[in-house]
Amino acid sequence: MSSYKVIVLKPKKDDFIKRFHPWVFSGAIEIMPKDITEGEIVKVLSSKNEFLGVGHYQIGSIAVRILSFQNEDIDESFYEKRLTAAYNMRKSLKLISSVNDTYRLVHGEGDDLSGLIIDIYGKTAVIQSHTVGMHTDKILIVNVLKKVYNENPLENIYYKSEGTLPYKADLQFSDYYIYGGQNQDGEQNVVNTQNVALENGLKFRIDWLKGQKTGFFIDQRENRTLLEKYSEGRHVLNMFSYSGGFSVYALRGGAKEVVSVDSSSKALSIAEDNVLLNFQGENRHTVSSEDGFKYLSDIPQDKYDLIVLDPPAFAKHRGAINNALQGYKRLNHLALTKIAPGGILFTFSCSQAITKEQFRLTVFSAATLSGRKVQILHQLTQPADHPINIYHPEGEYLKGLVLYVE
Ligand code: SAH
Repeated sequence: MSSYKVIVLKPKKDDFIKRFHPWVFSGAIEIMPKDITEGEIVKVLSSKNEFLGVGHYQIGSIAVRILSFQNEDIDESFYEKRLTAAYNMRKSLKLISSVNDTYRLVHGEGDDLSGLIIDIYGKTAVIQSHTVGMHTDKILIVNVLKKVYNENPLENIYYKSEGTLPYKADLQFSDYYIYGGQNQDGEQNVVNTQNVALENGLKFRIDWLKGQKTGFFIDQRENRTLLEKYSEGRHVLNMFSYSGGFSVYALRGGAKEVVSVDSSSKALSIAEDNVLLNFQGENRHTVSSEDGFKYLSDIPQDKYDLIVLDPPAFAKHRGAINNALQGYKRLNHLALTKIAPGGILFTFSCSQAITKEQFRLTVFSAATLSGRKVQILHQLTQPADHPINIYHPEGEYLKGLVLYVE
């Protein structure tokens, strides 16, 4: 066993951790080792010297992210155990198959690896560290990833943590291929690696180098499948489309017309590529690079009878909740006013700080304001490869409603 430095909690501050919540707040700490460095592994003890857990130390209000509630080393074999469990879970849920190789392998606390995200796009893994500890352990994690994919080897592992780590001078680096990243001529660290992955049999070009997040919004996969079912013969507006995930499904579902709207023209050019990749010679799809609020205000009434609203997180932290709720209300009011009779609205919020209930109440007041008859058809959430650790309810972030508007 490694001799990790020890953090001791104040009396009565150990109940949350005994209930397997993986965060230790700095206010709960009684004794902090003097020479501790950010990112190092520490042991956490109760005021009565009971072992509670082992995890990464970080400067800030969440001082320790517990990785294990057992007294064990956080080494290669620990990560191998966790990554193998995550892989086997996705495999058993049929998320890894000949028609689907786009999935989240590790979803932070949801997979008992606080601070770590790993997304898989075909033969490429994209790793994102949200803690200095995971950043420190990245080489261990890469070695383990290669082992887990031993039978179907990964070609690239892209490390994409710029902007997700806390600011520190010695942590400044550019995102890079930590493994692979070769083009067909064997040239290293190039941009044009093979980047088409499959989601439910549909092809998507994933821009992990310059795209948002790790390159794609995998968390909407199941909600896109539902949209496909309702798309036949409809005029679809995919608002906040990013690279056109919902649009491609709507086209496969038989939509008459699909319009992707996003403020990022780069995202829209990928959306156009993605439509082409799946439907050669398609003329049902167009894009429009505009502000979502403005676009909805400007369109005539009844132009669309299926609208998707999937905006970026309006509330990035708790202090922004009220403004964010106003934003969701305005947006949903616009869509509920403009949608054609018999229309279906898919409306989402990915703000972690906003609860399901708050979101529902906000959409409810937007509906009242529109004066229309509105029925809830479905209540949506994040998919199985973004699991929520039952002891860490903060992991629930994506919420959606599907509404029928008379
Ligand atoms: N629905 C997408 C993900 C949406 S992410 C999918 O399934 O992949 C949110 C998107 O909103 C981003 O692409 C961002 O560029 C865009 N966006 C942010 N602010 C916007 C605004 N004011 N108007 C239009 N698009 C905006």
